[in-house]
Amino acid sequence: MFRLFSNSLISLFFFFFFIIILSWPTCIPARKTLGFALDNHVATVKSYNSTWYKSNIESFLNGSIGSQVIDISEIKKHLHRFGYFQLQNDTFTDNTLDARFESAVTLYQEKLGLPITGKLDFATVSQIFTPRCGMPDTTTIPIHTLHGTKHYVFFPGKPHWSRRMPMKLTYAFSQDYMIHNLTLSEIRVAFKRAFRRWASVIPVSFTETDDYSFADIKIGFYYGDHGDGEPFDGVLGILAHSFSPESGRFHLDAAETWAVDFRKEKSAVAIDLESVATHEIGHLLGLAHSPVTEAVMYPSLKPRDQKLDLTLDDIEGVQALYGSNPNFRFGSLLESDTSTNQAVSLRNIRSYNVWVTLFLKLVLILCLCM
Ligand SMILES: [Zn+2]
Ligand SMILES: [Zn+2]
Repeated sequence: MFRLFSNSLISLFFFFFFIIILSWPTCIPARKTLGFALDNHVATVKSYNSTWYKSNIESFLNGSIGSQVIDISEIKKHLHRFGYFQLQNDTFTDNTLDARFESAVTLYQEKLGLPITGKLDFATVSQIFTPRCGMPDTTTIPIHTLHGTKHYVFFPGKPHWSRRMPMKLTYAFSQDYMIHNLTLSEIRVAFKRAFRRWASVIPVSFTETDDYSFADIKIGFYYGDHGDGEPFDGVLGILAHSFSPESGRFHLDAAETWAVDFRKEKSAVAIDLESVATHEIGHLLGLAHSPVTEAVMYPSLKPRDQKLDLTLDDIEGVQALYGSNPNFRFGSLLESDTSTNQAVSLRNIRSYNVWVTLFLKLVLILCLCM
């Protein structure tokens, strides 16, 4: 009798405990859909005419199928640039908002983890005008978990570096294509830290070499059209691009105000070099753009913002290509989410919560069976 009562009490305890855990959010709340205040955005995005943006935002938001929306062609060009419009020889002079445009917007929202409305809503327009990586989002293989959660993505064919493990890759800076608002020493430190983040989670090491022509990864800062069919566009807009394995080409837009310390660099359009370097190294290793907004491999970065720490999504993706660094422990995820020296952060712990929930479900079932 007592045993029965005791078992029921335990079951009841676990039942309520389980309910509480289920009501615990399974992931950190997504960031505000607006990356930063529109006025702030308009003031800083010099690559687009701010007056144009401000005067057209209302018409973008109110547009419906079949209507003519002034300068919607500019949005079409952007969607085409990143692979959402598969059109040949289109001059994008048509301002009609049609079904094809709506499906491109829907795909854009899906790929970038935005609310899927098929409309040019505020979150979508704001995202379109946020500075970003030049790699297209659509030349990727989407991967979904059993629960339909989107996560890391590879390039088609899953290319990765094929060397003997532990792998050693070298990188070098171009002497001809450099910037001068930062010293070479400052640039080298930023890149060293960026490479070290990835090296801490996979059995791959990165060493700087002076031999540019023989380096596996070649880094340079370029203006505009620089011969690879992917021209840069001046201040903001596209910040950098790199290529999938084993190309090793790593290009940054020399027109940006690159920064390694925002206390020294006061420009409103300053871009954090280390954050962009960390993102582009992900491409060099074989990761495409992730729809997880907190991930380093998410394609956009606002001026004066930093995104340094690898999230669980980034780590799981790169380890699926190269395996784990024997010294890496997932437990280190729990150590700190504040230090920028950590390779990883707690900003994306949803997978842990899923495992906790599954464990508790198991405990509950066992208790009910007792
Ligand atoms: Zn990218
Ligand atoms: Zn390039």
